[in-house]
Amino acid sequence: TQSYLKSIEGAGALNAFVHHTPEIAMDQAKAADARIKAGDAPDMCGIPLGIKDLFCTKGVASQAASGILEGFKPEYESTVTTQLFDAGSVMLGKLNMDEFAMGSSNETSVYGNAVNPWKVDAELTPGGSSGGSAAAVAADLCLGATGTDTGGSIRQPAAFTGTTGIKPTYGRVSRWGVVAFASSLDQAGPMTKDVRDSAIMLEAMCGHDPKDSTSADLAVPNFEAALTDDIRGKVIGIPREYHMDGMPEEIEKLWKDGTAMLKDAGAEIRDISLPHTKYALPAYYVIAPAEASSNLARYDGVRFGHRAKLDAGDGITEMYEKTRAEGFGPEVQRRVMVGTYVLSAGFYDAYYNRARKVRALIKQDFDKVYASGVDAILTPATPSSAFALGAMKNADPIQMYLNDVFTVTVNLAGLPGIAVPAGLDKNGLPLGLQLIGRPWEEGDLLNVAYALE
Ligand code: GLN
Repeated sequence: TQSYLKSIEGAGALNAFVHHTPEIAMDQAKAADARIKAGDAPDMCGIPLGIKDLFCTKGVASQAASGILEGFKPEYESTVTTQLFDAGSVMLGKLNMDEFAMGSSNETSVYGNAVNPWKVDAELTPGGSSGGSAAAVAADLCLGATGTDTGGSIRQPAAFTGTTGIKPTYGRVSRWGVVAFASSLDQAGPMTKDVRDSAIMLEAMCGHDPKDSTSADLAVPNFEAALTDDIRGKVIGIPREYHMDGMPEEIEKLWKDGTAMLKDAGAEIRDISLPHTKYALPAYYVIAPAEASSNLARYDGVRFGHRAKLDAGDGITEMYEKTRAEGFGPEVQRRVMVGTYVLSAGFYDAYYNRARKVRALIKQDFDKVYASGVDAILTPATPSSAFALGAMKNADPIQMYLNDVFTVTVNLAGLPGIAVPAGLDKNGLPLGLQLIGRPWEEGDLLNVAYALE
């Protein structure tokens, strides 16, 4: 813990940690030492972690990287962090992210973006929204980090930084105490150096939680024990529709190499079709903002964080308007407006309802493929490697949204998905592959990823 705290102090330029908690870390580390000495130490005991700013941590700033939550220190601890701390893990601090987890580059953060540690001088994005988590793990500022994934926010930053991250099946990890973005899509998961660490950390994060009505009442398997490296006879689907126009050749090549690796390990490779894939991105960018506009209605200047200074004669409406205009950044405002629009009486059927139908079709695509005997699906994690900070920030927002083209289907269908490092591009930057698993079979999924690692 001391050595990680020291590394963090020297890594300010990465802007990965946005709130530092060295006292808490040292107290937790001492308690962990005592447990280890007493022989009562779970695997996560004494492991120094970074916690994404989206998780409510009791008495510690938890701002979701937003100006509107300025000064907010929750009275309660999220279920995920409670479980990790109960297992003896150590919190080094809170990690940078896109504001309310909306973004793919970490540039919507009120703290300014984190930097990709692979080539600091090149000023590349670490990805988003869990960009601080990915940067911190890649730069050895912590052994693991919590992330959250609504449309790819664990897997895309993992791919951009050569780290591993898994989004579990929807309902596997409690959302209680995690600031909500799009509640039907949000899931938390671990970001780590490798698959084994992800298996161990995920197990500590999972479990039924009566405080989250969508939490599944299922036993948590021993995910590490699932890592047998034996994938003989497993059927791996390669979805045609993920060959996108304009995708760099080196990504096609890594995808082929990954396929060959799994085949060599004894898996059967099968060409599959997920015909509704092309509608996933537009459906996601209707559903996610719709849910966000509703979830973010609570930030009204009364209950949490920031409240605008008012002029004489201002009433409650002006208080709401000024507070929200000052507190939310431009991307969050865009989502709130889009979300409100697609939910409005005149457009609900045309947009929101239609997107929900598309979502059901996307889920059916996966159901059919799994029913035909496929065990896991292999795809690229992202359509490019880490891009330059600033390159897309002020461009057409749809350019930024295209980053999520391979990942959003997984959230829409509620499936588990993992990104693993797959190699480097011609500039020496990491690229990742994504594996998508059957619902609730994270163990199997981790094992296929382990064979690919
Ligand atoms: N980049 C996507 C978005 O901006 C996904 C974000 C996430 O998974 N939290 O919505």
